[in-house]
Amino acid sequence: MPDRAARHEFDGKLRQALDNPRLHTNLTAFQQGWRSARDRATGDIDFATLRADMKRAKFTISGNLDRYLGEFRDAAVGAGAHVHDAVDASAANRIVLDIARQHGISLIAKSKSMVSEEIEFNHAAEALGHRVVETDLGEWIVQIRHERPSHMVMPAVHLSRQEIGVDMSGALDREISRESIAEQVGSARDEIRGTFFRAGMGITGANALIAESGTVMMVTNEGNGRLCASLPPVHVVLAGIEKLVPSFEDAVTQMRLLARSATAQRITSYTSFITGPTPGHEMHIVLVNNGRRAMAALPEFEEALHCIRCAACANVCPPYREVGGHAFGYIYSGAIGLVVTKFHHGLDAAAGPQSLCLSCNACETVCPVGIPLPRQILDVRAMVVEEFGIKQPKRTALALHARPRTANLALRIARRMQRPLPRGSTLLRTRRLPFVRGQTRWRSLPLLAD
Ligand code: SF4
Repeated sequence: MPDRAARHEFDGKLRQALDNPRLHTNLTAFQQGWRSARDRATGDIDFATLRADMKRAKFTISGNLDRYLGEFRDAAVGAGAHVHDAVDASAANRIVLDIARQHGISLIAKSKSMVSEEIEFNHAAEALGHRVVETDLGEWIVQIRHERPSHMVMPAVHLSRQEIGVDMSGALDREISRESIAEQVGSARDEIRGTFFRAGMGITGANALIAESGTVMMVTNEGNGRLCASLPPVHVVLAGIEKLVPSFEDAVTQMRLLARSATAQRITSYTSFITGPTPGHEMHIVLVNNGRRAMAALPEFEEALHCIRCAACANVCPPYREVGGHAFGYIYSGAIGLVVTKFHHGLDAAAGPQSLCLSCNACETVCPVGIPLPRQILDVRAMVVEEFGIKQPKRTALALHARPRTANLALRIARRMQRPLPRGSTLLRTRRLPFVRGQTRWRSLPLLAD
């Protein structure tokens, strides 16, 4: 079995999610709205052709990682940036915090960066006495709630405006509207804006690293990314090594797919291409491995490195709609989270959420890079079973299936035993049955057919 603490953590998150009817309502509204908007937004492009182009570009990178990393590094250094390699999460944190220490920086402004979540940068920085302020609205909301993002693109998608109003009122120590999103956004903006001018360091992520020019591409809708990149005197880019694309043309292909797949827009409000530091400032690019090379080395997982973090796979996922991203994933949520967590955070962290995938394959149909997510999830499940085994009831059921005669006999006995239970229904509604108590706690099961 996975580490007891990891198992306990997952069970707790799952129970909390299932006991929260509002979560289901919020996520159902979001998924339905996203699906129709995304279909409209992809109506004016040849999605299949762009997807094939993107896939080709990403295969070029994952098959020649060192060559393109070298090309990117040379170009970025030539443009005046400092480029660092981080083998794992603690190395990445150490590099950034050393830079902060050398410059005597205490306040850090951060824009959205999933890599910073992956390496748990805020915890590492706060442990050394730095103050980190999230400047993306959704990230700021989850920061004041002391939560992780529940979605890779919309960190606070699990919350209603009423819940956000309550949290903001507590954090800002004044009454904030529970209904007016405009008032909430305005108040958050007033609170956050000064940080850009006071911070000694701005941290951003990267949506793409363009090898031919050493350029960082960043897409946002709030403009906070470019403020983090240009106002504080030190700009740090935290990026996974898989963010490389060979050329500007490939970055534009990604841009066209990413906006449509992530937020159902033709283009996001802000797209920044940053080559070298702002004059008079410093720019550091931290290239994070943290399990990515291990992924590249396994042919069955190489394509997971092609992910452009659009979160479309979460937006169509039925179990995600029921339990949200805190349970369905670890730090990376949705279908891709079920795959990459093993490589970034270990099999213990990856094991629990595997049981939530229904293998409906919806994720693969919308993925703009065509990653074979359902097959990869099954591959991670096989690793989990190999490492931790399976529970006794499942083992017994599978052993029975392997012996058809014994299975038939067992089913005949079970059919007889179930007769007193349904009370005229075709469904089994009882919480008292041994073995299936977990399965009948929140749903009815069909009867075994005669
Ligand atoms: S796996 Fe595909 S759909 Fe999911 S986040 Fe990555 S690119 Fe988007």
